[in-house]
Amino acid sequence: MTRRIAIVGAGQSGLQTAIGLLDQGYRVTLVSNRSGEEIANGRVMSSQCMFNNALQTERDLGLNFWEEECPPVEGIGLTVPDPEAAGSTLIDWAARLDKPAQSVDQRLKMPRWMEVFKQKGGELVLLDAGIDTLEELAASHDLVMLAAGKGEIVRLFERDAERSAFDKPQRALALTYVKGMEPSEPFSRVAFNLVPGVGEYFVFPALTVNGPCEIMVFEGIPGGPMDCWQDVTTPAQHLQRSLELVRRFAPAQAGRCRHLELTDDNGILAGRFPPTIRKPVARLPSGRCIFGMADAVVVNDPITGQGSNNAAKCSKLYLDAIIARADEPFTPEWMQQTFERYWSYAEDVVTWTNTMLRPPEPHLLELLGAAQQAPELAAMIANGFDNPPDYFPWWTSPEACRYLIGQHLKKEA
Ligand SMILES: Cc1cc2nc3c(=O)[nH]c(=O)nc-3n(C[C@H](O)[C@H](O)[C@H](O)COP(=O)(O)OP(=O)(O)OC[C@H]3O[C@@H](n4cnc5c(N)ncnc54)[C@H](O)[C@@H]3O)c2cc1C
Repeated sequence: MTRRIAIVGAGQSGLQTAIGLLDQGYRVTLVSNRSGEEIANGRVMSSQCMFNNALQTERDLGLNFWEEECPPVEGIGLTVPDPEAAGSTLIDWAARLDKPAQSVDQRLKMPRWMEVFKQKGGELVLLDAGIDTLEELAASHDLVMLAAGKGEIVRLFERDAERSAFDKPQRALALTYVKGMEPSEPFSRVAFNLVPGVGEYFVFPALTVNGPCEIMVFEGIPGGPMDCWQDVTTPAQHLQRSLELVRRFAPAQAGRCRHLELTDDNGILAGRFPPTIRKPVARLPSGRCIFGMADAVVVNDPITGQGSNNAAKCSKLYLDAIIARADEPFTPEWMQQTFERYWSYAEDVVTWTNTMLRPPEPHLLELLGAAQQAPELAAMIANGFDNPPDYFPWWTSPEACRYLIGQHLKKEA
């Protein structure tokens, strides 16, 4: 008999998995608290820069509709301004990615994927799922997955205190989608600006609802001068505040911003959340279990731009595990084991991301500085965004890190 699977949440992981399952002949119910039209006409949700391995999971399902249209992100750049000398930098390098990254506005992507899901015979249900809905789904489906991102409902999964490094937001976040920014030369990039004690500003090209754009991302340390969005009430003020921050904290980027305008009034966002790891299995009052995926169970700060990448990779891993399960029941043990396989990847992403949220360790400052002299080192750091486990052991081991730096500086000498 055809197996029935229900997924709550029509974001990156929910939709990608739902479509992958339909392709394999499963009957799939997808519950979304917003219609495609509401998503398309709503606020931006993310900066969603995705690197090659994650993009490949979309290509494998034929979901890469924007590959030609979306401007490529060809590299990663890092700048640390000198707080003592306005306009000069302590660190400044850029390296090409082996394969380009891309960011497609979720307001474009999710509504289109919802259409694909319906065309392939999936059942899309529009409602804000609560426990009653989950109970109904669990009674009528072989497996219920909760892919509700940062929605309230994910609190059903208990916070994993051992695996969660923080219990408070670590950054005040803001997004500003703009047109008219001058391109970075000689190649496009995620241009990271790390401002010690203040936060981070990064910017990169993307595709939004009205064509190519650049996305400005601000990550302010709570209580600091980049945590400054509370009094902003209009889109025009949001753009103005973004420009003030760039001029003040990332002056090397200010020259690119002379003729900026917002992509649209919904191209802005401000908020904050605590990075949290949750236990992946929740038991409903009936005793039936549901299974958590992507942000619902592992939510990172966006400082390293990994959430959508994680969601796509989690989706691929869960999809393969469901298929491999064939006709066996989806027991809580299977759920736990499947999650642990995902965690064996995601743990490195979380560890790496968390090092970027804390004041940098001396060996990391040495590493980021040495990359300016050693292009191969810069390229290793840039390409790690595509597969963060490649950063280990040297990202967290001062010894291994200094050895690596020594090897590369010797080559350059
Ligand atoms: C400011 C910011 C910048 C970011 N930048 C990047 C980046 O550059 N690169 C990157 O890889 N990631 C980035 N991310 C993270 C990325 O957007 C998320 O990690 C990713 O979208 C998570 O996918 P998901 O499928 O888990 O959840 P989501 O994509 O969030 O989808 C969850 C869906 O569930 C729905 N939902 C919630 N509750 C319910 C309910 N009760 N019933 C029904 N539906 C429900 C929601 O409306 C939503 O549509 C960023 C995030 C933020 C906040």
